[in-house]
Formats: sequence, C-alpha cells, structure tokens
Amino acid sequence: MKPYVLLVEDEEALATLLEYNFQKEGFETSIAIDGEDALLQAEERTPDLIMLDWMLPKLSGVEVCRRLRRRKSTAKTPIIMLSARGDETDRVTGLDYGADDYMVKPFSMTELFARTRALLRRVSPTLLQDIIKLGDIEVDTKALRVKRADNAIHLGPTEFRLLDHLIRNPGRVFSREQLLDAVWGRDIYVEARTVDVHIGRLRKALKMPDRKDPIRTVRSAGYAFEAVND
Ligand code: CA
Repeated sequence: MKPYVLLVEDEEALATLLEYNFQKEGFETSIAIDGEDALLQAEERTPDLIMLDWMLPKLSGVEVCRRLRRRKSTAKTPIIMLSARGDETDRVTGLDYGADDYMVKPFSMTELFARTRALLRRVSPTLLQDIIKLGDIEVDTKALRVKRADNAIHLGPTEFRLLDHLIRNPGRVFSREQLLDAVWGRDIYVEARTVDVHIGRLRKALKMPDRKDPIRTVRSAGYAFEAVND
C-alpha cells in the first residue's frame, strides 16, 4: 500500500504542486481546501502524514492541528505545518500546537522531502520501505509478494492489505473496527465479523508445519501481529 498524505492547503497552485510532488515520491494524495474539510477527510481515512497550512478558511491550521491531536485516530499522525512568513511564526510555531515539524513558505521541495522522510523514519519506520521483514515473514509491497521462511505465500487482495497493515505495526493490538477503517476504508459498510473471516484466511495462508501462528487473538480487543523466528 502506498503511504497516504492529506494535503491541507487553500492556495490552489501550491496544493497542485504538492500533489504532483508527493505523487512522484510514491504517495497517495488527497487535497483539503479548508479546515473543516481537513477534519472530515482525516476522519474518513486516517492519513499517514498531514501537510497542514497555517492560514485556512473556516478553521485555522492551528485549530485543525489541535483537534486532530485530540482524536484517537490522529493523535500521533505526523503533521508538518506550512506557514507564510509573518503568520505569527516569530512568536509561536506550529510545534507549540502539536505539529511535528513546520516549514516557512516558500520552501524547496527537496527540503520538504528531506524533512518528510526524516519525520516518517522516526514516527513510522516501515512506511517508506518496499520490503518489510518481520521474523520469518517478508512482504514486498511493490511487487505484492509474500514469503514465509522463503516459501511463496499466495494471498487475496484483502488478506494482503490486512497483512501489510498488521506487519507495519508489530505487537500493536487492533480492534476489528480499526482494521475495518484501515483496510476496507470508512466509506464501505462491512460487518465487524468480516474481519474475523479474512483473519482466518490470512492465518490459513500463512500456516506452515512446525511454525507458530504470527497472529495473536486478543480476547474482546482484536488482533496483533508478532514476529515468529522459527
Ligand atoms: Ca493559506
């Protein structure tokens, strides 16, 4: 899965430029043109990264940042604030409002991506990797291939997305609802037990004699993925 960036910017030219450059860097993108739109879109689909303009119509970037931090789903989402010189940046920076980094316009795309990569490496180390290895399992997210102990594993598209999400967050317990949001998306209505069905298929596909099940069922909480080394 490509990392997903939400670009919150009301200047059309800059929004388009950011979109073009993020897509070129391998990101999936969406543009929000004001503060309310940003909050709505972030709720519909949790971004992996948010570029947030300081001065926005309807709700300021600072207020958007504050509200995103209060929500469980975006409490830790990396946020880079963008501000024009003079947007109070002398007194306060976006960092005071919970942003991870901020940049003053005009900025170079080279610098933006250097900072973006540094931030993502720190916050979610596996996000920019094409090949993720955990224990005896290897997922190639570009070639869409999965191996366990060097044996090719064949997965359906939903099982692949499920594994991709779980393996990027080892040890973390996800509820069925969180998995539905992350793997199926919020705009699709799927029953929570559908998750159990696909977890079952994923387990079956990954099953190998004498090797442990990497998926842990956490009673009344959900599922977690753990490294199995032999
Ligand atoms: Ca603006």
